[in-house]
Formats: sequence, C-alpha cells, structure tokens
Amino acid sequence: MTGWPTPRFFDGHNDLLLRLLTHKVTAEEIVQGVDSGHICLPRARKGGFGGGFFAIFVPSPSEGASSFEVMANPPYDLPLPAPLRRDEAWDFVQAGFGALDALEQAGAITICRDADEVKAALDGETMAAVIHIEGAEAVSESCVELESLYAQGLRSLGPVWSRPTVFAEGVPFKHPSSPDIGAGLTEAGKRLVAECNRLKIMVDLSHLNEKGFDDVAALSDAPLVATHSNAHAVTPHARNLTDRQLRQIAETGGMVGINFAAAFLREDGAMRADVPGEVIMRHLDHLIAILGEDHVGFGSDFDGALLPEKMGDCTGLNWLRDELRGHGVDDVLLAKLAHGNWLKVMAKTWGS
Ligand SMILES: [Zn+2]
Repeated sequence: MTGWPTPRFFDGHNDLLLRLLTHKVTAEEIVQGVDSGHICLPRARKGGFGGGFFAIFVPSPSEGASSFEVMANPPYDLPLPAPLRRDEAWDFVQAGFGALDALEQAGAITICRDADEVKAALDGETMAAVIHIEGAEAVSESCVELESLYAQGLRSLGPVWSRPTVFAEGVPFKHPSSPDIGAGLTEAGKRLVAECNRLKIMVDLSHLNEKGFDDVAALSDAPLVATHSNAHAVTPHARNLTDRQLRQIAETGGMVGINFAAAFLREDGAMRADVPGEVIMRHLDHLIAILGEDHVGFGSDFDGALLPEKMGDCTGLNWLRDELRGHGVDDVLLAKLAHGNWLKVMAKTWGS
C-alpha cells in the first residue's frame, strides 16, 4: 500500500468501460496513465479513488447535438432516445465483460463479487470493480439471462437508463421536472425485481421514474439503493430523488450515492462546470438529514458527466476530502462517506 491518499473513495457509478468500448483508450493506457477522461490508474492512486460500480452501458446511436451542447442552456430538456434491440444490447454487454477482463488482466482493476472482496481490494494496488449494467436491454422478458450474467460477475442492475425498456420507464434529462413521469413497472419488470432479489443482484433505482421506484419499493426485499442521484429538494431535476423517495430508502436501510454531474448539483440545472464545493455540501446535508450518516456515499459518474471544475477528474477527490473536512466532517464520518457505507449496504444486499 503505497501513497494512496486515505480514506479511499469507493463509489456507486463510473463509465470508464464506455471509453474502452468506444476505443478512446486501451486497458494498457489505463494502467500506464492517460490525460483524457476522468479515470486512469496513476490518477486513481493520486486521488485515492479506490474504485466503485463499473457500469456497462449500451449507448444509443448518436443523433445530432450532444447532450453537453443541449444541456448547457435553457430549456434543459433532452428528448430520450428510442428503445434498443435486445440482440445488439447483448453483444455490447458481452463486449463490456471483455473490457472488464482486459482491465483486470492489465492490472488496473480487481473484479469483486462480494463486500469482503471490495474491502480487501481497497487495501491493494488496483481499483476495486463491482460489475453493474445500466439499463436492462440485454435481458429478455423471461429474465432467463440473469443467472448467466450473475455467473459472469454481475452484482448490480438498473432496469433502465432513462430510455424505456420492456421492464420500466426512466426519467428524462429535464430541469425543472418531477421524476413522476410515465408508468410503473411492467409484469416483466416485476419479474426482474424478483429474480434480482433471488440471485442477490442489487436493483439500482437511479434513472427509474417515480412509479417504477414505488413498484420496486413495494416488491423488493433488499435495501433500496440509488447509486448516482442527488436531492430533488436542492436541485429539482428529474434525475434527483424527492424527499418522499428518500424517506422510502431510509425505511429499508438503503443508500444514495451523490452524483458529481454539474447539472444534477447546480440549483439552476445548468450543465456548466462552475460549481463550488458548497453546492455538494448542500446535497450532502439534505441527504444526511433524511437518510442518516450511515446511508449516504458518493456515485461520481466519472467518465459519464460534466464535473465541477475543481473536481476535474478523480484526482479531485483530494479537493473533496478538504471540502468535507472544511464542512466539519470528522474522520469517522469521512470514512463512512468515502466507502464504509457502501461496504455495509453491499454486505446487506448480497450477504457476505
Ligand atoms: Zn447514469
């Protein structure tokens, strides 16, 4: 264990895999270090980024202006792309597992299948990686594929990434907006939750609309978890969680990971990088007020979002530690927020 700042952060969401899958970077470059993107191993070591949930996300075919262009100015309302074909999603997800293997072989990550493995990896020289699929397009309505995905190491699944699936509907990228848009889970969506419970795959509520959220809350026997979402009372974006949703999460001993995406942090919803640390603290205080100190962590969205300029990339976690200490967070709470609370909710969800 050499030179990693402590406590290390382990967080609920990053999109590093998409950089590999779109050929912007190789696994060897992630180990050696690159300037592009938010994560590589040397910068993880410098910032004390211990790892997190690595998302396999299937992008939609691109059409016109990028989200960064559309969301920089009002009205903040991005149309959702069309549903994906299952066979294409399946192939892309399998390529995602290939990228994870390549990263592990190269020595960038350690793939973790339970909370003890994450805990051990957080003392090592690689990033701890929990495998997450963001949007269940690769799974059919029978949910029969879940067992083989679990065997491949899958431990967390979002029924939707905003665009609709056969299971559920997601929230749009819209501010100001309520997350109460669209219908609840389909029959297949209810089966998906039951199967995830049976196999002990975490069901991620980030991106799910409010009726779907309520259906998961009614059905699931696991703690409710939103891996990368913020407080709607602070920033009324459809991607953030209302106080009612936060209270439901609290009742189950669940967890929320604070997302660093500027558009979900800033009260005005603009996708612009001038975000003072104090804005992150406002979300933190609100989440802790409802959930308590043991049920809040981070869900950076590294490599998937426009970050506050002071954060910049995963080396900005050094800035975040200073901001948290300056906000009065003591060492005990800092360790819980950085990774301790995630370890506990993973152990509760998966057994250990
Ligand atoms: Zn996301």
